[in-house]
Amino acid sequence: MNADKDLIIIGGGPGGMAAAQYGARANLKVLVIEEMAPGGQALNISDLENYPGISDPVSGFEFAQNMAKQAEAFGAEFLTASAEELKKENELFYVKTTAGTFTAPAVIMATGTRQKHLNIPGETEFSGRGVSYCATCDDPFFRDKKILVVGGGDSACDEVSFLSNLSDKVVIIHRKERFRAQKALAERVINNKNIEVRFNTVLKEITGDSRVKSVVLEDTVTGKIKKEKMDAVFVFIGSLPQTSLIPEIRKDNGGFVVTNQRMETEIPGLFAVGDLRATPFRQLIVAAGEGAVATHCASQHIDDIKGMRYI
Ligand code: NAP
Repeated sequence: MNADKDLIIIGGGPGGMAAAQYGARANLKVLVIEEMAPGGQALNISDLENYPGISDPVSGFEFAQNMAKQAEAFGAEFLTASAEELKKENELFYVKTTAGTFTAPAVIMATGTRQKHLNIPGETEFSGRGVSYCATCDDPFFRDKKILVVGGGDSACDEVSFLSNLSDKVVIIHRKERFRAQKALAERVINNKNIEVRFNTVLKEITGDSRVKSVVLEDTVTGKIKKEKMDAVFVFIGSLPQTSLIPEIRKDNGGFVVTNQRMETEIPGLFAVGDLRATPFRQLIVAAGEGAVATHCASQHIDDIKGMRYI
């Protein structure tokens, strides 16, 4: 078989970079295709404090830089490009990118997720002008401002805690009567004096002129609707898997890719890891662990094709 690479990894988040490091260290020719800077959703983490072995919190950016450096030191190659098409012919995958087409007998999909939008009036109009989906990216603009955070999961609770360091006028609303987030994160929010928590509340509309000026909120218990002054709105209501390259594959109800415990999809040689995989717990450590498993199994798949598998 005449392939450009042994293993192509699409997506340079923690899952993809862990896979790359394991692959390169196992002497595979590894190519990581990532359209932005390596790191994926980890780049949004202000203080990474729950990764085993890192007792002093580091930023997601610093962590991602180190992961990339480590994978490159073992020989993994990173390409900044968008993957546009994935197809398999005989035993070979063809990955068409904005920087050319590459072939390999195994591909790991690590394209992660993108954030969900509320789809309410004003959200698109004020995006980048007071409406944001990333607290650490946009934080300098919102110091001492009145900030609304929407969401009840881990992301919302993490990000609202970060924003409470910038302003003591932070409000978080959640549509239910308690948070979905892990208990430790939820309690940290509830006990934070800079954060006002409002349950059973939904955001109906965002208004303003050149920037966000106010929001329209509804109390879902009383049905009461009120307009309130607000300088910024942060939306953290979950994420959607980025699976457009592999539409015809088994997914769960949320559209997340189903694999077996070897991270194999239904297509032999195609693996999926990290946030785009159907999993009960989306965490950096989970994605990294899945990357290691996928590469180990991808390497066995490559050996099978070459008739070299150790049995
Ligand atoms: P999530 O767990 O799916 O939570 C989304 C939250 O947004 C839920 O509370 C949901 O409400 C609410 N929501 C969804 N659609 C809404 C809408 N249209 N209007 C109002 N509210 C809406 O998503 P996530 O918080 O982004 O977390 C994603 C994954 O990443 C999770 O597996 C999480 O554990 C992981 N994560 C972990 C950490 C950490 O460990 N530090 C940090 C960030 C993310 P309902 O509760 O009513 O469904």
